[in-house]
Order: sequence, then structure tokens, then C-alpha cells
Amino acid sequence: MATERTLTIIKPDAVAAGHIGDIIKIFEASQFMIVAARLVRLSKKEAEGFYAVHRSKGFFESLTNFMSSGSALVMVLEGENAIARLREVMGATNPANAAPGTIRKLYATSIEHNAVHGSDAPETAAYEIGYFFPGVALV
Ligand code: ATP
Ligand code: MG
Repeated sequence: MATERTLTIIKPDAVAAGHIGDIIKIFEASQFMIVAARLVRLSKKEAEGFYAVHRSKGFFESLTNFMSSGSALVMVLEGENAIARLREVMGATNPANAAPGTIRKLYATSIEHNAVHGSDAPETAAYEIGYFFPGVALV
């Protein structure tokens, strides 16, 4: 196993509900190091660019409206096997299917308003880190 970096977003629903601290506490307890962080208010265009892979989906319009609806906290996390481990700590996309103790089980309120994003593969992690932290030398 190798040290990896992955991108996470605490989505507008969880920021508005006051769960930034709760979620960062879980990241820290799960042996992730925060190596970059930015509070952003995505424009609709930025949300569309970030989720471009879902452009053809029926939920794309609603998803990108949601993601541009308020502040979101974007972070790069580092750790052993970080990409797959973050996905485990997040839980299933639909909170109804998320395992007990996962972030989505605890804080998501629907399949769309599901509290957090996490990169799903090394290629997407590299792309997404560059999307939010272009040219930034990470800590
Ligand atoms: P993310 O990419 O945000 O980490 P994910 O990889 O678990 O989530 P994706 O399939 O990539 O899930 O979907 C991206 C996001 O689109 C989901 O996190 C959720 O906010 C929204 N979404 C996915 N499926 C649906 C759906 N059926 N209806 C509404 N929104 C959805
Ligand atoms: Mg995804």
C-alpha cells in the first residue's frame, strides 16, 4: 500500500447544517492528513465542470444547482490507501444504503444531499486536485 492523495468536498448541505467540524473529526480519527483546504462557493459552471462525467444523467441539473447553492469546503487528504479508504469512511452514495458510522449515514439527508464527495480512482483524484488547486505546491 502506498501513501496517496485524494480530493474531498464537504458539500453545501453539510456546511449549512454545521457539520464541518464533525466531518473533519472523522477524517482525523481515520488517519487522514489535510494537506490543502479552500472554502468555495462554486459557480454553476464550476459545478458542471467538476461533475462533467455525469452530464448525461437525469440528476445533473439538480446536482449542479445543489453544488452551487452555498459554501463548500474542498480539501486534499493524504494517507495510506487514501482514495479507497476515504470512500469507505464516506459510505454509500445513497445514505439509505450507507453502513453505520459512515459520514453519509450520519449526515446525508438524501442521495443528492449526501454531505461529502470523494475521488473514486487515482486518475480522478489527480484531475480533481488539479481542478481546485492548480499549480499549488501542497504541504
Ligand atoms: P461523489 O462523486 O459526490 O463522491 P459518488 O461517487 O458516491 O459521489 P456519483 O455516482 O459520482 O456518486 O454521483 C455524484 C453525486 O451525484 C452524488 O454524490 C449525489 O450527490 C448525486 N447523485 C448521484 N445519484 C443521484 C440520483 N440518483 N439522484 C440525485 N442525485 C444523485
Ligand atoms: Mg463520484
